[in-house]
Amino acid sequence: MLAYTYTVPGQFALLEKPKPTLREPTDALVRVTLASICTSDLHIKHGSVPRAVPGITVGHEMVGVVEAVGRDVQTLRPGDRVAVNVETFCGDCFFCRHGWVNNCTHPDGGWALGCRIDGGQAEYVRVPFAEQGLTPIPDGVSDRQALFVGDILATGYWAAEISEIGPEDTVLILGAGPTGLCTLQCVLLHHPRQVIVCESDPQRLAFVQRHHPRVLAVPPEQLHACVAAHSAHGGADVVLEVAGSPDTFRMAWECARPNAIVTVVALYDAPQILPLPEMYGKNLTFKTGGVDGCRCGEILAHIAAGRLDTTPLLTHTYPLEKIEEAYRLFESHRDGVMKVAITCTGAP
Ligand SMILES: [Zn+2]
Ligand SMILES: [Zn+2]
Repeated sequence: MLAYTYTVPGQFALLEKPKPTLREPTDALVRVTLASICTSDLHIKHGSVPRAVPGITVGHEMVGVVEAVGRDVQTLRPGDRVAVNVETFCGDCFFCRHGWVNNCTHPDGGWALGCRIDGGQAEYVRVPFAEQGLTPIPDGVSDRQALFVGDILATGYWAAEISEIGPEDTVLILGAGPTGLCTLQCVLLHHPRQVIVCESDPQRLAFVQRHHPRVLAVPPEQLHACVAAHSAHGGADVVLEVAGSPDTFRMAWECARPNAIVTVVALYDAPQILPLPEMYGKNLTFKTGGVDGCRCGEILAHIAAGRLDTTPLLTHTYPLEKIEEAYRLFESHRDGVMKVAITCTGAP
């Protein structure tokens, strides 16, 4: 089968590899119908994910059809359409039992697929702990609608949930890239009084204005004035930092009102400064990433009911054979690209 592979630091290649097989009784084998490219894939390519293992198939955002299950897998059957979770988790350790699946203590726990074990930019993928890692896609929800459920949509859903958003709140979201836009939709599920999105890229700002006319979309130069004008207590009640740019951590705590919650979803390239003397008395609560992605069933129910729709983010589609072209486009930010879908095998 074809599998897009991390060969050496700085390089991916489309290789012919053997089709994976079941190894553990809790495994499932999934035929990948649709995959996507994530910024984290680029982090692997550029060597900023030290635990990524050369030789592995990359890709951790995908949907597909169950082809085979191990003998201990009770809740899934061959033929089931499934969303694949970015995180592998046992469901049984201390952290899993608290819902903190990102910190699952199993050796394969956490972000393993497409990083430490073979992922899904391929025709087939072996999914460990399949009962935890796969979520059946309801009839009436398409592959394209479900594609982000296990990764960036799970991230937005988790971030919105831990931010304790109330109906009177002004919520500020920094960053309107794919994860920022998923976070925005999940924040709107909590019905805050006002949402402000800050983004430096004019195309992304226009995207927010087009799809969410009631959300205030502003460039960084206008941010402080906008927050002051639209918050009742000297700053945003909740801030979600999804940009990860050099200045956005500072912007996040500066724009927060006293006693606000600041949720840091972003993954930074460099350490950030927490200037405690400057923020003394502001009494902020910081919550930090990564995602505990174990609510995929709820997310799919929201999609089925029409409350979440991330299909406008899928701006381009390529077949697996042309994945190198898809990566070039995704990396270049050309042609209004937001997210790229990769058709790995034919639709069911
Ligand atoms: Zn990702
Ligand atoms: Zn666990």
